[in-house]
Amino acid sequence: MKVTEIGSRGLMFDFEDGETTLGQTIVYLIKGEKYFFLCDTQTGSKPMSLVKDYIEEELKNKQLIIFNSHYHWDHIWGNDFFEDSIIVSHSKARDNMIENAEKELKENSKFVEGKIKIKYPDITFDKKLSFEDEGVEFIYAPGHTSGHAICYDKKEKIVFVGDLVEEPIPMLLDKDLDAFRNSLEYILTMNANTYVTTHSYIASEEMVNVNLQYVKAVIDNKKTPEKILKNYPDIETLDKFNRNNVMILKYENILKNSNNNFDGDRFREELYKEMKIDKSKYDSTVEMIASIDKDKLEKKLKEKV
Ligand SMILES: [Zn+2]
Repeated sequence: MKVTEIGSRGLMFDFEDGETTLGQTIVYLIKGEKYFFLCDTQTGSKPMSLVKDYIEEELKNKQLIIFNSHYHWDHIWGNDFFEDSIIVSHSKARDNMIENAEKELKENSKFVEGKIKIKYPDITFDKKLSFEDEGVEFIYAPGHTSGHAICYDKKEKIVFVGDLVEEPIPMLLDKDLDAFRNSLEYILTMNANTYVTTHSYIASEEMVNVNLQYVKAVIDNKKTPEKILKNYPDIETLDKFNRNNVMILKYENILKNSNNNFDGDRFREELYKEMKIDKSKYDSTVEMIASIDKDKLEKKLKEKV
């Protein structure tokens, strides 16, 4: 495990092979006076036990607050490890967790590291939750998911942005891109001096801007800016996935609103079947969705609503 000190009270934990099943997925700790704030909990008890060993002495007289940036499995599987902690998330993140966590655990069980028991947040907030004396705030910032939030260390001007910023472009997994754009614009108004991400370590302000330009291009149905493509030629697959995935999500939402029994998984299965997509040809769902012709996809989706 590599531990990087950030500012006077931040620690970034980066786990290695053998310690986690999912590398490049950091957790961030803010050491306050009364509370320690742990942003996300990785893939289970094993990586969390390493964090515990590292902070055990200092943690003795503090209360541990766990902040879940959102419901995805690689951010919550260690929730159960710290017995006396209080877990906090946005209210929608908790709802999303209740709806999806057991299913995600089943689908991704090969990534379990150590022991896991799904544990839901104890406390939720809607717009913001402030620990005034500590200068720490959890702020709602949707986009990556509908319940995504960020953690701001106001004293140090360090913001933990979770999965909202990725290098070079974010993965688009939620239909509400306006919310994504607003959250990135908000982050840029914070005047933070450090942006800690989950999967891309520390992002520069320029990188936050690149993410914003990209999201705007997708919203406006414009090509990805030439400047981004030139600097990052490898994004083609992710770019195609993002655009197709957002389109599917939008149509799914229309159907969901008109049918109480709508089953998203079944809908996608049928869609792929009708489009004669051979799943076995692809290494990942991202590659498979990226491979679909955009116009054909749109035509098919229109038929379904
Ligand atoms: Zn995520």
